[in-house]
Amino acid sequence: MPPLLTSVHHSQLHNLRSQSLDVIPNHAPLPDPFSQDYRCDDVVVCVVCGGICKPTVYSSLAVHDPYLRRDWMHPTLIRAQKGFLEWCKQPHTATAYRRRDDKVLHAIPITQFRGGPDGFYAEGLGKLVINTADAEMNLPIHARCIDLALIFCRYQSRFSINFRAFSTPEGGIPSSIAHLYEIWMKRALMTNPGLLGPLHQPIDEPNNYFGAVVTQKLYEYRWTLSHDNYNIALQEADPGPSSLYTTHVVMLRSHPLPRDVRPDPKYETLWETIEKQPPEIRNRIMESLEPFDDLGIEETRCTRIAPPSWWKARLFSHDLHPWLYDLDEACLRTVCVSTGNSLPLSPQMDWERLCRDMAQPNVCKPGGALFGHAGLSNRHRIWRLLNSARLGHFSSPGSSTCFT
Ligand SMILES: [Zn+2]
Repeated sequence: MPPLLTSVHHSQLHNLRSQSLDVIPNHAPLPDPFSQDYRCDDVVVCVVCGGICKPTVYSSLAVHDPYLRRDWMHPTLIRAQKGFLEWCKQPHTATAYRRRDDKVLHAIPITQFRGGPDGFYAEGLGKLVINTADAEMNLPIHARCIDLALIFCRYQSRFSINFRAFSTPEGGIPSSIAHLYEIWMKRALMTNPGLLGPLHQPIDEPNNYFGAVVTQKLYEYRWTLSHDNYNIALQEADPGPSSLYTTHVVMLRSHPLPRDVRPDPKYETLWETIEKQPPEIRNRIMESLEPFDDLGIEETRCTRIAPPSWWKARLFSHDLHPWLYDLDEACLRTVCVSTGNSLPLSPQMDWERLCRDMAQPNVCKPGGALFGHAGLSNRHRIWRLLNSARLGHFSSPGSSTCFT
């Protein structure tokens, strides 16, 4: 199976990034990366993950290496097409069931970034500014985080969720990149309420980005980094896809099937009954399991109702754990050879145990199945940030500061 990101790049991302940009060109010269005149230490953070947008010119952070454009924390700007707020008022836009809204937005690759809200330069467009007075404002984001947001939305759009019903337990979850953009734009406006103009501080997030270190100045960030800040190391870990690595890490948690795997007698015929249902009923039952995360203690116990082959198929189709979207069955043989563990290729593998281990709320914390893998920890944190985003939720003092 090809990596999911490839298809996202070639379809969704391509659409998102190939629009004809409606910016009025401002052909200011790009800053000279070697010039100390351009030094700027104002921090700008990505609206998704809270990580810094790394400057490409002289700054507290990049004195010796101005060429950071290949780094995953290099910035991109995202901006809605003209008329976005009117588009949002149309009732049908509240639900994105099996729909993509990629064309409502532009993603603008940044050629040079010198720090601050007005430090963005794009080839052919000149200088671009993050200005809360703009009806369709530029918002800072990492390309990796756009990818994750699009994968998240593609998954959520399987369900019919009313984005504007955010006060109800089952509503409010964004299922379109346009929903997320609207949330991010409101957060930018509420970061400095009542003051419209270039935004000279990092955009707030109501959960404090689940423990990411956010400073106002790059020299403060560097100081924290130089004092061995564990959270910075995690938030700078690349959350991007790596099928072989992710498959390898997950398979380290493989267990053999216990000898007696029969379900509780009262459920013994349940699977057979489900299998006999017409497809539409069966699919509804299966869909009610998705996504499979944040399990309580009772749910982490294997029930043995479904056969191991069913669990295996759900794991590799990413239905249960959509954030592990790069898990790839085609990598299993390579992983087994490299680790000398052939269990995942044998019928004796306990796939239900593995699926339930991956769905525990502390999966990336100490004691969790994926603890110690920084890139996956960061991806899990970013996925939680996307999943918890709601219109009308804004920062308040005393929010969580615990990473992931
Ligand atoms: Zn980011």
